[in-house]
Amino acid sequence: MSEFKNVSFVSDDNMCTGCGVCVAVCPHDVISMLVDEAKGVYQSNVNLETCTDCTICLKSCPPLTWSNEPKTQIYNEMVGDYVAGYATYSNDEYIRRDSASGGFITTLLLYLLEKGLIQGAVVTKRDENNPLISKPFIATTKEEIINAKGSKYSPVKFDEILHDIIEGDYENLAVVGLPCHIEGVARAAQKSKKLSKKIKYKISIVCGQAPSFLGYEYIAKKFEIETNKITELKNRGDGWPGYMEIQLDSKNIKVPYGSKYSMGTVLSSPLFTPLACQMCADAVGFNADVSVSDAWLEKYMDDKQGVNLILTKNRELDEIIKQMGRDDYITLIDENINEFIKANKSVIHNKSKFNNYRLDKFIGPNRELYSQKMLNNYHVSFTQKIKLIIFTWHLKIIKKLDIKKIVPKLNDKVLFYLKALNLLKR
Ligand SMILES: Cc1cc2nc3c(=O)[nH]c(=O)nc-3n(C[C@H](O)[C@H](O)[C@H](O)COP(=O)(O)OP(=O)(O)OC[C@H]3O[C@@H](n4cnc5c(N)ncnc54)[C@H](O)[C@@H]3O)c2cc1C
Repeated sequence: MSEFKNVSFVSDDNMCTGCGVCVAVCPHDVISMLVDEAKGVYQSNVNLETCTDCTICLKSCPPLTWSNEPKTQIYNEMVGDYVAGYATYSNDEYIRRDSASGGFITTLLLYLLEKGLIQGAVVTKRDENNPLISKPFIATTKEEIINAKGSKYSPVKFDEILHDIIEGDYENLAVVGLPCHIEGVARAAQKSKKLSKKIKYKISIVCGQAPSFLGYEYIAKKFEIETNKITELKNRGDGWPGYMEIQLDSKNIKVPYGSKYSMGTVLSSPLFTPLACQMCADAVGFNADVSVSDAWLEKYMDDKQGVNLILTKNRELDEIIKQMGRDDYITLIDENINEFIKANKSVIHNKSKFNNYRLDKFIGPNRELYSQKMLNNYHVSFTQKIKLIIFTWHLKIIKKLDIKKIVPKLNDKVLFYLKALNLLKR
């Protein structure tokens, strides 16, 4: 039994994903989410003086609860339980082209709403006053769902929205989130009948990392703009893999997805990747009803309109998705689970296979408390171990840095070096 009665040690260990679920489930309102200015991420903060040691927060904290233990017969260690795999895209041309990948999530939500299967969906939009901030909200109309399409490469916290759901008069909601959001929400719902009645479907986005706020400071420096002058920010859209668009009153900057000043180098650099994302065990949302990713497979990559790969994890939703195909909302092609894993091989292998090994090297005395239930039967080769040691050694240095202070002095060479380190995770 752990000596810890609340999640304060998770933030101290740089393992807090910033999902905010602990805040929502705390019955005594003693946890809040703060921005760690030096790292540009959300972190939970426990008021130790008023905490009652009830331990409820520990039961829905993703790095403490992640488990890929099988619950059904159809199971893969890297992605957990599943029903079937598909390649798919929206048959609405506008949604398909302007969404993150093939517009599957947006089309699924519209279908569920239209058929009366959900009352609304938790989706995420950028704050109108500060587009660097992205916030989840409950969309109850077609327009709201469509307007929230696209990926937001920023920290997103679910504390307020979950609190609203718990307290509000909602039923049959779908929740779209990253694997850490979905894990937290699923665990919270396991503990709360009230919440589990309200949340009907959990839709997980496959996730390599959710960049910190600070990557945008470097991008702004490169384009000689000020972040507080940004009026709109779009990370994906206009085809696949699409463009990042930074809108200012005076100009509009369009950066291709893979280019160095977008997700390509800056946003996926270890300097702007939260340490909790580096330690994350779940690329797909083990506890989701469906996992959704880009189709990084040669056979789909020439299709610039966008294609999704999806893995259904709930039989009822799988049937609904097949019906969406028959009703002509989406194009649906059977796809093997191995293709799903292959498309995101580096992300899925990095998170599932190497997670335990990285944790061993990164975490101090609390190691035993994290992802204890993760299966750890993978053979990690000698070369891979060396690569992981070098990578984790860099993370230990990054852990000590005030990254916000470093950004003005940073140059491309340092960033490209750090970005190249990501190759060591494969
Ligand atoms: C931070 C991040 C990292 C990702 N990493 C990978 C990866 O490594 N490999 C891969 O194949 N795919 C990755 N994706 C997923 C991919 O970019 C698409 O989001 C996914 O394929 C869904 O595409 P779609 O066209 O169906 O989505 P859309 O129809 O455009 O809908 C996307 C939905 O997700 C919601 N959303 C967007 N951003 C967030 C967020 N940050 N938090 C919570 N909800 C959000 C939107 O509100 C919208 O409802 C990542 C996405 C994000 C946000």
